[in-house]
Amino acid sequence: MINIQKYVQAESLEEAYQLNQKRSGRIIGGMLWLKMARNTVGTAIDLCRLGLDTIEETDEQFSIGAMVTLRQLELHPDLNAYTGHAAAHAVQDIIGVQFRNMATIGGSVWGRFGFSDVLTLLLSMDTSVELYKGGIVPLEEFAAMKHDNDILVRVLIRKRPGSFVYQAMRNQRTDFPVLTCALSRVEGEYRAVIGARPARAIVIRDEQGILRDGITEESASAFAAYAAGKAPTGSNVRGSAAYRTHLINVLTRRSALELGGMQEWN
Ligand SMILES: Cc1cc2nc3c(=O)[nH]c(=O)nc-3n(C[C@H](O)[C@H](O)[C@H](O)COP(=O)(O)OP(=O)(O)OC[C@H]3O[C@@H](n4cnc5c(N)ncnc54)[C@H](O)[C@@H]3O)c2cc1C
Repeated sequence: MINIQKYVQAESLEEAYQLNQKRSGRIIGGMLWLKMARNTVGTAIDLCRLGLDTIEETDEQFSIGAMVTLRQLELHPDLNAYTGHAAAHAVQDIIGVQFRNMATIGGSVWGRFGFSDVLTLLLSMDTSVELYKGGIVPLEEFAAMKHDNDILVRVLIRKRPGSFVYQAMRNQRTDFPVLTCALSRVEGEYRAVIGARPARAIVIRDEQGILRDGITEESASAFAAYAAGKAPTGSNVRGSAAYRTHLINVLTRRSALELGGMQEWN
């Protein structure tokens, strides 16, 4: 169990940042992950008073405050229109509605969890994170960075014309995924994102132009085989490396066929 000695609702990002520089300080989101740890937190720093709980949309981007919940992401009409419901598909099996009403995008992205459906989805788009001190950093770069004492303020998704598909395999609904796969075509560029390998999600671009001339049964299979060859996999209690590599083939192929309008899976 976690033991919190002091709880502060920060009045400003600067105050939150300063408190977070002490080793005993800890930013809290929905606390769903944090509460499972067995340690002592000197000061729990809540961002709930900083107006970071909304999704704002302009012609150029979606700006998602760190305290926005996964449920808000799931239900946002315009975000789901933009992603072809990939946003809802990505989070719909994360435990249950009550859980998603509390889990925040800030905690989910900051965690950079290997199993993360959220990271997999966001990496398939033109996504950046806004860090209080670090400024705006592309998500792909952020995902590879080590944890530090900065604060994730917002997640920014540039609205480039594109199509998105999300697939995941779970042994049991609401369990952690065995493999996640998001496929996108953004202004002609295809990318597959493979997560829960079980390591952190990685982006695989169609560098060989396998899908360049369109999605067919053959090109979908070829791209799936290419992705399976590019994404290293490992074993854990949920599945072996070989099974995960097989799943990359299956889910990437399905995603490509769905993206090409040839098959509906979700
Ligand atoms: C049992 C269980 C099952 C899960 N299953 C899945 C799943 O299948 N798929 C999936 O994608 N996810 C899953 N998750 C993860 C979950 O969806 C959330 O991502 C996770 O709980 C973190 O969100 P939170 O708001 O609870 O963050 P917290 O637990 O409050 O924080 C998590 C970490 O992020 C830090 N943090 C939080 N917000 C910020 C911020 N704004 N800036 C800097 N640091 C910050 C905290 O200090 C902490 O280190 C699961 C979690 C649990 C507990």
